Amino acid sequence: MAADSSPRTPLRIALLGHGRMGRLIEQLAPEHGATVVLRLDGSNNQDGSGLNRAALRKTDVAIDFSTGASVTSGNLERLCDLGIDTVVGTTGWDDRRAALLAHARSSRIGLVHGANFSVGVNAFYRIAAAAARTLARCGGYDLAAFESHHRGKRDAPSGTALRIIDEVRAAGWSGEIDVTSQRTGYVPGTHELQWDSAADTVRLSHTARSRAGFARGALAAAHWIHGRSGVYDFAECWERVVAGDGPSSEGSR
Ligand code: NAD
Repeated sequence: MAADSSPRTPLRIALLGHGRMGRLIEQLAPEHGATVVLRLDGSNNQDGSGLNRAALRKTDVAIDFSTGASVTSGNLERLCDLGIDTVVGTTGWDDRRAALLAHARSSRIGLVHGANFSVGVNAFYRIAAAAARTLARCGGYDLAAFESHHRGKRDAPSGTALRIIDEVRAAGWSGEIDVTSQRTGYVPGTHELQWDSAADTVRLSHTARSRAGFARGALAAAHWIHGRSGVYDFAECWERVVAGDGPSSEGSR
């Protein structure tokens, strides 16, 4: 995604999570017309305790790349109640997703959430669905899904792998899917689908080169959601985010 070089006032970001992703977002923020005004992590935000009106008074948008447990134990509810537009990239909170998204909707904040903020992965979802639709009609294929991530990643299968599987199912793949997760070394993220038949193998693969694609996608989403109302899955709004379309009468505040 191209860096944003327009001379407007920088978007003021509160970072929830200051680990691998949070630090990278802070580093790339100036290239994307944004500046980090608040950093919260596990040391100063237990159960969302660092999120209050005073701390957030200069924040335009919060970006959460923390842990699934901290999203569900206070972060997202507090941001909704404080009326702060938010981008959530954190994974591993599926068990409370429906309730938290309903809360966000009723609070009228703008929220973009997504298991993967890489534009390439979001294109991959569509390609995977198209392949699944075609190969389900052919018959005779077994499907295996494989994902590999660095040793620090907690949830497995990854949120991205779960999303790919949802897309494949929605496209009509009703057969078994053999899912394998690997946690090793420093891999930023690899996802593969392999259809194997007696005659041949069809393989789709996405390999992240670094975490920068996730960080740039989240920063673009932060600009897009600011001043907008409603809950958006990045997988559904990424093309509008990339195009940089401004708030419309639909859902704007
Ligand atoms: P990390 O382990 O490097 O960092 C996690 C950070 O969260 C740490 O700074 C920790 O102190 C902080 N934290 C813990 N409790 C907190 C709390 N209550 N409030 C605020 N911060 C808290 O992890 P990471 O690699 O930066 O990844 C973070 C999350 O983002 C993970 O869930 C990961 O799966 C996800 N992720 C998503 C994408 C995407 O594109 N959506 C890409 C990469 C990673």
